[in-house]
Amino acid sequence: MKSVWRGCGGVLTLAWLGVLTLAASAAADDAVPADPAPRWWKGNLHTHSLWSDGDDFPEMIAERYRTRDYHFLALTDHNVLSQGLRWMKADAIAKRGGDDVVAKYLARFGKSWVEIRGEGDSREVRLKPFEEYRALVEERGKFLMIPAEEISDKAEGVPVHMNASNLRDVIQPLGGATVRETIENNLRQVNEQAEKAGREILAHLNHPNFGWAVTAEDIAYAVTERYFEVYNGHPGVNQPGDEHRPSIDRLWDIANTIRLARLDAPPLYGIATDDSHHYHQKGGSRPFRGWQMVRATHLTPEHIIRAIKAGDSYATSGVTLADVRFDAGTKTLELAIEPHEGATYTTQFIGTLRGFDDASQPTLDKDGKPPVDKAGKPLRVSRKYSGEIGQVLATRQGSSAEYTLTGKELYVRAVVTSSLPPADPSFEGQRQQAWTQPVGWEWVLEKE
Ligand SMILES: [Zn+2]
Ligand SMILES: [Zn+2]
Repeated sequence: MKSVWRGCGGVLTLAWLGVLTLAASAAADDAVPADPAPRWWKGNLHTHSLWSDGDDFPEMIAERYRTRDYHFLALTDHNVLSQGLRWMKADAIAKRGGDDVVAKYLARFGKSWVEIRGEGDSREVRLKPFEEYRALVEERGKFLMIPAEEISDKAEGVPVHMNASNLRDVIQPLGGATVRETIENNLRQVNEQAEKAGREILAHLNHPNFGWAVTAEDIAYAVTERYFEVYNGHPGVNQPGDEHRPSIDRLWDIANTIRLARLDAPPLYGIATDDSHHYHQKGGSRPFRGWQMVRATHLTPEHIIRAIKAGDSYATSGVTLADVRFDAGTKTLELAIEPHEGATYTTQFIGTLRGFDDASQPTLDKDGKPPVDKAGKPLRVSRKYSGEIGQVLATRQGSSAEYTLTGKELYVRAVVTSSLPPADPSFEGQRQQAWTQPVGWEWVLEKE
């Protein structure tokens, strides 16, 4: 044997073995994995394209996210599911995003992909439907497109928007007499489709403070909705609140406390999105401001959605968590932050304790009257609640933090704030943050 290995044949054999090994490992890398370990996937569930009021083509948008290390993306145009044949006037596209939008699209994907007809004023470009462009941009285990829609409804004169991810069929907004009823009506349509189609669909309530539309009580009492945008990167969504209306973080705590203390209902889980419309520096609603990190075994719509529903995800506007875990045995919420050069981190554990002050008062202006807008119309406002709702239970500095529940909490959630602003802030004074889901609430529901 030895002599063979030393000889010419041996060299050949070794070289051949090397080729075989390479071929085998390539095949192994390429194989569909069996039972892979859970890992974090990064994605955005709220994005607009030319199919409604965004200013770029779906493939161009998908490529932007794919090449920014995103793993999943839902294009959520208003009341459409990007299906069927649709041509758009080149002039209208130029008006949205600039004269070079079509040229950039052509330069990126080429004449063999881009479809153009007509000349001059009647020049039109075809918007590719979902099933067509997904085949171009998706990559198994690396980048996934999720069919989705922003169900864009109105009630009581304000916008009521909710996203439905992994839809099969388009849903038309159903309306309702009140904001709450509208949320529940549309959610019912989503759930009916999920059941009929036998698929996982995630419906989340969008930007509650956009148009000051959805109050803390609306969110609390529309108990069938379990998911909402704790951060939306659109600069017009009033993320920090104002003198009469709570910030989104505060709204979340009020709604979760009402649900757990009064309604025996589970709390809402938070989702971060960027709600981007503008990809050509022609407007302020830009991509990459907020995203969801989801821990799942497989990059499929079903696995991503099930993990979000199970609470195995966190929302972020820049802070990355290496890990976040709630140990139900020791009742400890523990997280580890992936440090960013030059940043320091503060983690606040926020919750409401049993026996909190449950009194609330109407929100009034300086003169003690219900606040009105310039036209004298009453503002939609949440009530004022005690500081014992959503109080800071503990604060930790550094790149890891933990909190052990005492048993008095209705729920606890963690919010991590970096000393650094995001690369592209959506409001003044913004810092990069991460929001974990509320934990420790299951016992509250079991005991009552
Ligand atoms: Zn919206
Ligand atoms: Zn939107």
